[in-house]
Amino acid sequence: MSGELLYEGKAKQVYATDDPGRVVIRFKDDATAFNGVKRATVGGKGRINCAITAYLFDLVAREAGVAHHMVQKLDDERLLCERVEIVPVEVVVRNRVAGSFARRYGIHEGAALPQPLVEFFYKSDALDDPLMGEDVPVLLGWAKRWELQFMREATLAVNDVLLRFYGEHGIDLVDMKLEFGRQDGRLLLADELTPDGSRLWERSTGRKLDKDVFRRDLADLGETYRELARRVLGAV
Ligand code: 5GP
Repeated sequence: MSGELLYEGKAKQVYATDDPGRVVIRFKDDATAFNGVKRATVGGKGRINCAITAYLFDLVAREAGVAHHMVQKLDDERLLCERVEIVPVEVVVRNRVAGSFARRYGIHEGAALPQPLVEFFYKSDALDDPLMGEDVPVLLGWAKRWELQFMREATLAVNDVLLRFYGEHGIDLVDMKLEFGRQDGRLLLADELTPDGSRLWERSTGRKLDKDVFRRDLADLGETYRELARRVLGAV
């Protein structure tokens, strides 16, 4: 099924298939932070991120009607996906103050925002993904106005579903980053839905069940992801 390696990112590889309209995405065991400056290999991470992504893509399609790029889960580490052109805009939705938002405004992490906040960042490793006002990607030709509007609404819809899903497992979805891709003039939710790109805090203790444990050296990443998978998927 997998052919030529088309692209290798920090946590995933993308392979060609016999169908030019489809690719295979393989989730790696590599963990990176701070734009690749900090690295580790974490056994089982690819399998867990693949399983969580596949489960959550199905969930958001079913419950929010958001179309995504996954066609089917092929095996433990690989998804068959529609081939898309990734929009170079990272869409972050925040339910609580954390991370770069807390640093930018000099406030403590943790407070709930009165409503979800959507922010757009330019997807550029070379520039460390700078924050953008909504006119910037339009004026610079990175996304159309309707695409930003669509991404904002789809992101809020995905956020609603995942807030509820994680909430049912006693976990607060603090924030997350989504990416979208173009295919035949429409936008599909793309990339992944994993604890690499979300902040997930256990409600009763505040324990972090996401990649911040690696970024901040708080706990073992493999054990943390296994615990998250046990909670939300049963077992992986
Ligand atoms: P922040 O802007 O606070 O650093 O990140 C907000 C949310 O988006 C967090 O859940 C974080 O994991 C996710 N995020 C932002 N940028 C990236 C990125 O480049 N890669 C990944 N994996 N997640 C990101």
